[in-house]
Order: sequence, then C-alpha cells, then structure tokens
Amino acid sequence: MTKPDITLPDTRAFVLRNARVPSVFLTDGVTAGATRDADGSPLLDIVVEDGRFTGLRPAGQGPSELPAFDLAGRQAWPRLVDVHAHLDKGHTVARTANPDGDFLGARAATTEDRLRYWDGEDIRRRLAFSLACAEAHGVGAIRTHLDSHEETAQRDQAATSWAVFREMRDAWAGRVTLQGVGLVAIEAYGDDYGRRLADIVAESGGLLGGGLRPTAILQGSALSEMNDLLDRLFGLARERDLDVDLHVDEIDDPVAASLDVIARATVRNGYEGRVTCGHCCSLALQPADQAAATIARVAKAGISIVTLPTVNMYLQDRQWERTPRWRGVAPVKELAAAGVPFAIAGDNCRDGFYAYGDHDMLDTFRAGVRILHLDHPLQQAPSHVGPIPAAIMGLEHTGQIREGGSADLILLPARSLNEVVARPHADRIVLRAGRRITTKVPRYEELTGEMSPW
Ligand SMILES: [Zn+2]
Repeated sequence: MTKPDITLPDTRAFVLRNARVPSVFLTDGVTAGATRDADGSPLLDIVVEDGRFTGLRPAGQGPSELPAFDLAGRQAWPRLVDVHAHLDKGHTVARTANPDGDFLGARAATTEDRLRYWDGEDIRRRLAFSLACAEAHGVGAIRTHLDSHEETAQRDQAATSWAVFREMRDAWAGRVTLQGVGLVAIEAYGDDYGRRLADIVAESGGLLGGGLRPTAILQGSALSEMNDLLDRLFGLARERDLDVDLHVDEIDDPVAASLDVIARATVRNGYEGRVTCGHCCSLALQPADQAAATIARVAKAGISIVTLPTVNMYLQDRQWERTPRWRGVAPVKELAAAGVPFAIAGDNCRDGFYAYGDHDMLDTFRAGVRILHLDHPLQQAPSHVGPIPAAIMGLEHTGQIREGGSADLILLPARSLNEVVARPHADRIVLRAGRRITTKVPRYEELTGEMSPW
C-alpha cells in the first residue's frame, strides 16, 4: 500500500486524487458516476488551476497530464464559516475575570474591560490574534458582532471599534472574509443614537444588530414598546439597505419570547429573508404548541437561526454549586423540520461569556454534533458550518467546493465523517487559493507582547 502523499505542490496546476468530499459541500449533480461511502460522500479527483477549482470528476477520471497528489480516500473540506463571533471581546479572560462564569458576571466583566481597555490599539491586537487563529484552523469567513455603545467619558466606542474593524477587514481581505454587526441593546433604537449607529454601520458595509433578552416585559404596553423599537430598527435598516442580525432570548426563562415578536415584525416590515437570529435558547423551554407556532412564523418570515452550542451550554443553567440540567441550545431539529436554515457558530472566545475557544470552526462543529445530536446519520451535519452560514452571509463560493471557486480546502487525515468528529485534527492541512498556508496559531505571548519561551 502506498502512503498518502499530501506534500503539496508549489505548482499552479495539479490534481488532488481520491479526495473524499462530504456531499453537502458539493453542488447537486456534480458527482454523478462517483462511488460513495456509507456517509454518501463521493470519491473525487479535484482539479486546481491558477488558485481555482476547475474540475470535480469521479476518482480516476482527473486529467493525467497534471501533477497529481493522492489523498487515498481522506477527507477534503472547504474552509469553514463562523457566522456569529465577538472578536472585539475575545482574549480578555485573563485580565478581567468573570468570577462565577455566569451571564450577569459576563456582562459586568465585559463592561469593565471595555471601558478600561478598548482603545484602537487594544482591539487591533486582539482582532489580529483571533484572525490568525481562525486562518490557521481553516476558517474562511467570520461575521463578528461589535459592541457599539453610545459614547462615554472613556471614548466613542462605536466609532473606535468600527474604524479598527474596517481597517482589519481590508487588511485581511483574501485571507479571512469579515462582516460586522452593530450590537447594542434594542432600547438604543428608541432615540437618536439608533440613527447614528445605523449610519456608522452603513458606511462600514455592516449589518444592524441588537440584543433582545426580555423576561417579563412582553405583556401589554411593554409589548407595544418592543414592537415600536423593532419597527424603528427595521426602518433604519430599510433606509440604508442593511440586513439585520439579532441576539435573541439568550436566557432560560420560557416567558422570553422575543423570537415570535421579531418574526411578526419581520413580516410587518417586509424584511423576509434578511434577518438572522442568534441563540434563541428559551424557545426550547416553551410549551410545545407555543414553540411550534413561533417556529412556523419564523419559517414564514424567512429568518435564519444561528445556534451557539459551546457558549450556550457553558452559560445557560449555570448556578453556583449546582450541576446544570439542560444544554441551553435552541431546538434546531424542529426548526430545520419546518424549513428554517440553521448554522452552528462559535460566539465568544476566551472572554467573560466563554472562557475557552480558539476560533476553530472544526472544533465547534465537532462539539455541535455532540451537543445537538446531529449524528446517526452525520451526513447533513457539515452543512451547518459550511454552505448554510455562507448563504446567510451572502458569500457565493465559500463553505463549499465548486468549479470556479477559490481552491480553499482543509485536508484531514480522516477517511469518514466519524473519523472527522472523533479527533481534533490539529494536523490538518489548509489550502488557500491552491497553496498550502504556512500560518500557525499565534502564541499566547503575542497578546501581551511578552517573549515566547519557544
Ligand atoms: Zn453572540
């Protein structure tokens, strides 16, 4: 038996032979004639020329005149998509502690850290670190929320954060695609600040965002207030042709039912297909009839859902000296059954809201499979970190392998989806535009400017 040769070429045209590609990463029909494994993944020869995919053929049918590299049935994935991150908060856990690890502690720690440290240089250094991690792990695109609070005595945070975001997005173009979302409490749209934020977002090519996490306020006049705020948000978005991405019901209280209110507001404002809702934890705890009615309205409104399994499991049901009883995640299987697309994303990384993480979407995928039970079979599971989040971000050639797209790949020493999920695969090989990237994850010392001991 020959050893798989994954010493990749420094040549502009080559064939990756015998690549096992999960079917969700491919366009229907492209694999006709290829043999499939038990996961339904075809065995392909992938042709790369001038940094692009120029052919996807059944194994053995790739052109013979080009240099060939035999993957021997190992998995080839596209680079993955993280559609919900908080790069501005990342890697602050060591300097500003969340002593209890719960949601209220996270909010307090984040506010303290933001007011104290978040000038342009601090945000830039942490964003660069995060992007280097993501690139090394094979993440091709990230949508990050940016805390966009009103100006304080310390600084004009929205202007500061968005200026660094624009700079980093341009500097990293072609390496990791970045989108930004302006994150404020929904109440911020009740006054003139909402208009100012919408202008900053529009000038930055971003999305309008907001957090809705009500408990007892969705009754009587409070509900009409919520509707007013959402109508103002949608009005500002429509005037500037902005998509919307909201933080919704990140709480274990079944009374929290913002998702239903948002679905109605989306239809009322003619914004079907342009809204993403993240978290939606409390939906899982609502009475079945109520949840089903909400899910039907979400489907009608064309809303996409993002579940954040690692962070939801970390934060939800966290009580001091009590073992958690639930996983904290949205009912994604029920949403999918109703035709609602859902993505899995990373959310926070080494901050008050989540103490761990490394911007590694393969790791998030593996955890998501386990937490959400997206296995038996595994066949559809990779779609939630590839083509679905790419479609939510409006990125045509990302999160999939198709002719004409940039030859961006993650090559894994795993033959089946089971083998992908079973190991962390720190030894994966990442290709961008047909070339192996040499970037390694940055050392932690880079965050503080210390010398690395090795
Ligand atoms: Zn979030």
